[in-house]
Amino acid sequence: GVEVLDLDRAHVFHSWSAQRTLTPLPIARTEGTAVWDYDGRRYLDFSSQLVYTNVGHQHPRVVAAIQEQAGRMCTIAPQHANDVRGQAAQRITARTPAGLDWVFFTSTGAEAVENAIRMARLHTGRRKIISTYRSYHGNTAAAIVATGDPRRWPNDVGIAGHVHVFGPFPYRSPFWSADDAEECERALSHLRQVIEFEGPETVAAILLESVPGTAGVIPPPPGFLDGVRQLCDEFGILWIADEVMAGFGRTGSWFAFQHWGAVPDLISFAKGVNSGYVPLGGVILSQAVYESFLDRPYPGGSTYSGHPLACAAAVATLDAMEEEGMIEHARKLGEDVVRPGLQELADRHPVVGQVRGLGMFWALDLVRDRSSRQMLVPYNASGAANAPMAELAAACRRRGLLAITSQNRLHLVPPCNVSVDELTEALGAVDDALGEIDH
Ligand code: PMP
Repeated sequence: GVEVLDLDRAHVFHSWSAQRTLTPLPIARTEGTAVWDYDGRRYLDFSSQLVYTNVGHQHPRVVAAIQEQAGRMCTIAPQHANDVRGQAAQRITARTPAGLDWVFFTSTGAEAVENAIRMARLHTGRRKIISTYRSYHGNTAAAIVATGDPRRWPNDVGIAGHVHVFGPFPYRSPFWSADDAEECERALSHLRQVIEFEGPETVAAILLESVPGTAGVIPPPPGFLDGVRQLCDEFGILWIADEVMAGFGRTGSWFAFQHWGAVPDLISFAKGVNSGYVPLGGVILSQAVYESFLDRPYPGGSTYSGHPLACAAAVATLDAMEEEGMIEHARKLGEDVVRPGLQELADRHPVVGQVRGLGMFWALDLVRDRSSRQMLVPYNASGAANAPMAELAAACRRRGLLAITSQNRLHLVPPCNVSVDELTEALGAVDDALGEIDH
């Protein structure tokens, strides 16, 4: 374990999030919901790494599919058809609403968003992309600018063609209301004003995570996505649903937007589509967007797009989810075990401001003061100001739990096939860890 860490430290340049906060944990072995370090210590993986191991680690069926594919054909480039790419596209579109029947493959989520933006601009002939503050869409040229988190834009990105609005935030937002309908109305009228102010004829797409994940697992108020659909129809704007994190079972449905009913024009996906065993992402296109590229080429695509090993893993992942009933399992245990369990913790720990989530997608907002909703750690906090969150992460780790701590939140995102015993064990660890930072 020590040599692994030394080697990493000597040669690997980590991104800011890993560099700043925790010592990277050297992992020796993974299986199901657990990972083990080099001393044989077991940790429950309630991070799903970066929220992607939706069928858990080393799912035998997915591993076997990758091995079988590797023995048969490790790689074939996108200009050639192959069986698993077609099968993966078929399995994916079998879960989408009618009319979303075409898949453009990429390797990552950021590339998926990048291409969805490009398709929307080419399809509409317009340029502007409206997205929300407190969103995350990836770390490439357009995706990072669409990302509504100014900490992620030093001086190396240009924001031309991007407009940020305040999103539907049930907590600590300018539209916050105890009444969902009122909050929804305020958010939609703000969005309408922004569209009218910018000029509807300049807006190509509204890009939204169906349930914003990185920024705090924020389910929109009922009616919000319907309202977005109506605004898009009124002004000829496309709705891009970013389902990279929320898709493929995470929220207890195949796609998160399906909880509310309205249907987007483009869907970006990655992560859970094959549990991240081999990088895969993509865009699902509506018939209308697809047709606009029939008489002109779509100038996208990369060397590894729809890689056969990744597609074989996707077919196995989606079949395993279906046949093992993981989606219903995630939805049911989310409601029957996680929601009441976390609510009970919130009742006893004053540091917990709000519990949010659905399926196996949960976050706790940590506050200094519950009534004023003042956050435990302010936006932009670093160094000593950030200490409570580092302490919380360390306290979880000491109790054998890997969770995600982010800004002023604890995210609990286990695989969709997590067991009741594992959930109970993790809730106990969170209880003890919160006890260490209570005030
Ligand atoms: N969109 C969303 C909603 C995400 O959560 C992420 C990754 N966290 C991305 C896009 C980018 O995906 P990737 O890291 O695979 O590029």
